[in-house]
Amino acid sequence: MGAHFSIARGLDRAVRTAAAHGCTALQIFTKNASTWKERTLLPEEIDAFKAAQRATGITHVAAHAAYLLNLASPEPGKHRMSLDALRQELERSSALGIAHVVLHPGNHMGAGEGEGIQKIIAAINGVFDACRAPGTRLLLETTAGQGSSLGGRFEHLRSILDGIFDPDRVAVCLDTSHIFAAGYDIRTREAYEKTLAAFDDIIGLDRLELIHLNDSKRKLGSRVDRHEHVGEGYIGMDAFRFIMQEPRFEAIPKIIETPKFKGALEYDRVNLDRLRALVNP
Ligand SMILES: [Zn+2]
Repeated sequence: MGAHFSIARGLDRAVRTAAAHGCTALQIFTKNASTWKERTLLPEEIDAFKAAQRATGITHVAAHAAYLLNLASPEPGKHRMSLDALRQELERSSALGIAHVVLHPGNHMGAGEGEGIQKIIAAINGVFDACRAPGTRLLLETTAGQGSSLGGRFEHLRSILDGIFDPDRVAVCLDTSHIFAAGYDIRTREAYEKTLAAFDDIIGLDRLELIHLNDSKRKLGSRVDRHEHVGEGYIGMDAFRFIMQEPRFEAIPKIIETPKFKGALEYDRVNLDRLRALVNP
């Protein structure tokens, strides 16, 4: 159980902040996520990060790829930059011993779903060819299906997984806020079971390796990606109870990406406590 924390004051600081919140898992950006500028890690940074992990008992770290990446971009320049950025992200994460790199599959920008998916498959295969990144797996994240983004249907992720030559290097991250906005209901026991069955049929629960626990500021099927505090959005508390008590998810790391503050209050602690309280009440 963990949250996304900033690396602004150092990679090792993010680990210590997570530990101070009682986390056993953590998600970070390994570089500034809103620019193309890459970052080369110093050996001291890598050592400090690994030492902080050993000292705190944070057992699982995920890295989220930068938002600018679009493996389906029809613009050759953007496409090339995205491939290069993904390769560097995988290499950086591997050097840090990070198990998972989370990626939004891409936006076809009007080229069509089929073409977008083929472009993403070729891109990932190419990046995998260009780097080994031992110990690090790429996770395709379910998306809200906003605009031309791919990943709003479980079928999109299935198609991409099917095209990857080295299937051991890819798996899936499920985001509650995204699937809900994409139209998959989880608010009642019946709806939750139906959505889980669809995920299992189409993708396979054995491919699920990370869960993002966020409530949604927007309604079911809105296709708008806006995260809300746990239990305070349109999803509501019941869905989080189903997930936190789900035996099939017991070993899967769960990360919140909820807003950091509510007014002046630091809210990660509140959201994490809310979720922890749902386990074996
Ligand atoms: Zn997410």
